[in-house]
Amino acid sequence: MATPMSAAQFAAVLKAEGVTVVEVDDWEHHNRNHKGPWGPVHGVMIHHTVTKGSARTVAICRDGYTSLPGPLCHGVITKDGRVHLVGYGRANHAGSGDGDVLQAVIAERALPADNEADTDGNRHFYGFECENLGDGLDPWPERQLEAIEQVSAAICRHHGWKEESVIGHLEWQPGKVDPRGFTMASMRARIHDRLAPTTTYTVRAGDTLWSIAASKLGDGNRWREIADLNSLKDPDAITPGQTLKLPKK
Ligand SMILES: [Zn+2]
Repeated sequence: MATPMSAAQFAAVLKAEGVTVVEVDDWEHHNRNHKGPWGPVHGVMIHHTVTKGSARTVAICRDGYTSLPGPLCHGVITKDGRVHLVGYGRANHAGSGDGDVLQAVIAERALPADNEADTDGNRHFYGFECENLGDGLDPWPERQLEAIEQVSAAICRHHGWKEESVIGHLEWQPGKVDPRGFTMASMRARIHDRLAPTTTYTVRAGDTLWSIAASKLGDGNRWREIADLNSLKDPDAITPGQTLKLPKK
């Protein structure tokens, strides 16, 4: 349970996470607040758009349709990994979903099947629409997946949530299939890793990744995690004075 961030905070936490933010028109004041409540917020919901072409995708998500007026989300994540802010406040993205799922999100425990549509999701979720045809064939570029990970982690970090607070539309509303092409479990694992606290270590003369892993993590075999975390191409090439990030013990 949390009070929604202000629009300015929302943009700021995304930028602080390293997201490339594009502010579209008067996004801070474009919302559906006159149709119902916004907040308290409990999580983040991920969608795919079933559209092609970034400009068109952003325009549709901002304006919506006659039958479903925009904004259709808060941020649109295009294939290039940019996050276009199109609205802020209540948005038409989540529709009615399963109240048992909402309770699980609040408790940050495993999700039950979504077999009811009895709860207003637009009130309780930040929403991101991702540019993808949703046919299971249209690829998800790594920079787009990374942006999904970043926006989700940024919001979780701000509210003190864990990765269980991030769900897909398909986990919320019966009949929905989005996002399709990656699993929410894999995305939550990425968000988990991103949120995991890291410490740093300054390399000394004579250190190897093995010795650092053995002394700091209690297991020399975990040297690979240090190499991955620091994107080290050559694990032997560490130099005294270099700062390394260390994974959770
Ligand atoms: Zn959706």
